[in-house]
Amino acid sequence: MNKPLVVITGASSGFGAEIAKRFNKEGFPLLLLGRRLEKMEQLPLDFEHVLLKQVDVTDLTAFKSAVREAEERYGKTDLLINNAGVMLLGNIETQQPEEWQTMLDTNVRGVLNGMQIVLEDMKNRQHGTILNMSSIAGFKAFVNHAAYVASKFGVHGATETIRQEVAEHNVRISLVSPGYAETELLHHVTNEALVSGIEDWKSTIGGTTLDPRHVADTVFFIYSMPQDVTVREVALAITKQTP
Ligand code: NDP
Repeated sequence: MNKPLVVITGASSGFGAEIAKRFNKEGFPLLLLGRRLEKMEQLPLDFEHVLLKQVDVTDLTAFKSAVREAEERYGKTDLLINNAGVMLLGNIETQQPEEWQTMLDTNVRGVLNGMQIVLEDMKNRQHGTILNMSSIAGFKAFVNHAAYVASKFGVHGATETIRQEVAEHNVRISLVSPGYAETELLHHVTNEALVSGIEDWKSTIGGTTLDPRHVADTVFFIYSMPQDVTVREVALAITKQTP
């Protein structure tokens, strides 16, 4: 296998699953991470050069050992896609603090964990790309999304800081900020009124949402640029989405 290793977190559904399909089709060896192994096993992939690991990204030790195992098999990680994330909506006055904790741990600490695991090798090799999945909620506020917005603004801030820290080592750090897409993201929201509010809002923008395949295409485009070109950030949403 002459293509380098691509690591994708949160590959069991949504954007991560679609990105996995895209890179698998292009012949890259993959390490796919998520907590639901059975969902990853059911993906329509050619599994010859795919390693699946049941890993919670908040567990640095487990995350690191999965990456090292894949690297022994396929060589060093050339692309890490920190995609795993959760969105639990709520008003800060009533939302359970455990939900804030889950979002901050997964969306921020999970991303920092991934970056720490691969950065040293990438700097030494003067080659490598990290792509963090943020959101339009990473640079715009949305009512009843305070903790999620805080976590995604955090992803933006950390990404830009680390980009500046490692640029001289020829390592690329990119952000993708999608708009609303119907993945499993909303399934975990416990506040039913807010879920139906999003359904109502969807009907005001024509009833369709972003197709995850377009996110996968965007990720592939960013990676396909030459190593000396960093697409720092892309925001994409369906044309009718205004905020
Ligand atoms: P999904 O819920 O479909 O996918 C989320 C993925 O993250 C799943 O594969 C899930 O796998 C994984 N995940 C969640 N928590 C953990 C964890 N602790 N450890 C490992 N994996 C975890 O949603 P999306 O595909 O929509 O979300 C992907 C990313 O895109 C997220 O970062 C989200 O914030 C972002 N995003 C989504 C938008 C949308 O409208 N859908 C818009 C903008 C950004 P498992 O449960 O098996 O662990």
